[in-house]
Amino acid sequence: MYFDSTTIVYLDGQWIPAQEAHASVYDQTLHYGTGVFEGIRSYQVGDRTRMFRGTDHYRRLIYSAQSIGLPYHGTVEDLEIISYELLEKNDLTEAYIRPFIYSAPMMSLSFPTASHIAICAWSWKKLLGDKLTNLCISPYCRPHPRSCRIEAKVSGHYVNSILAATDARAKGYDDALQLDVEGNVAECSGANFFFEKEGILYTAPPGHILPGITRDTILQLCKHMGIQVRQEFFTSEEVFQTDGAFLVGTAAEVTGINSLNDHAFTLPWQETLGYLLQKEYETATHQEDDWKVISL
Ligand code: PMP
Repeated sequence: MYFDSTTIVYLDGQWIPAQEAHASVYDQTLHYGTGVFEGIRSYQVGDRTRMFRGTDHYRRLIYSAQSIGLPYHGTVEDLEIISYELLEKNDLTEAYIRPFIYSAPMMSLSFPTASHIAICAWSWKKLLGDKLTNLCISPYCRPHPRSCRIEAKVSGHYVNSILAATDARAKGYDDALQLDVEGNVAECSGANFFFEKEGILYTAPPGHILPGITRDTILQLCKHMGIQVRQEFFTSEEVFQTDGAFLVGTAAEVTGINSLNDHAFTLPWQETLGYLLQKEYETATHQEDDWKVISL
């Protein structure tokens, strides 16, 4: 359960019990998926609680809203302040914060004229560990970038993710690796994908993926560590039986992949670049200083 009788959420400028936070059945978002959201993690850093790259997540939230014509007039700074207050009110440290902008009642197929903002949070301990995941290639490809704003985090896009992830689990895998409409590897249902071959990392370029903030952190860490990364298109055949692979996302952090369609990767996880980056990512999320962007 994400909330109980004591949980407080933020809704349109007010602090209210989660159990009293309701939306209207006429909200356009509920009918057509015109909402935008973020997933942000907070960590215990020394004696304080800190969101990792909260500013970047809130910039993307506002960008996502603008990209689908959802009006929102707040600022990144306000959203960050509200989020820390939310964590405090709910006595949370290691948590997942979920801001969500959604449309007011409206049934027409046009940009919403008014919106609501809600922010909730729940306790979510770090997932990190050496547990590896098994993926399969999904029969569901990622949405065509000319059919939507693929680089935005839009609620409606997640029907595609849910179809892919549910199909994978029904077949006995942990998650789905999705292709783009051209048949190249794109990303997982809720995370970006990297693979390793002969000491070089490969990941899909922007275009058919949600270019995640964790993906960006990994690219920056690689630059810092002198690890070569190629952002290019590749097929699933190129990934089978290569040296190693991992997925990255705010929720997943850095998770090693054991196999793809039952093809195991050749290196033991502890000997891969992914493993090194998993440790570096953990350090980055817990460093005292705020994350500083290295220009790529
Ligand atoms: N791709 C998809 C489809 C996702 O849902 C996510 C999670 N937001 C990601 C990639 C990773 O994005 P981020 O690192 O910003 O969490």
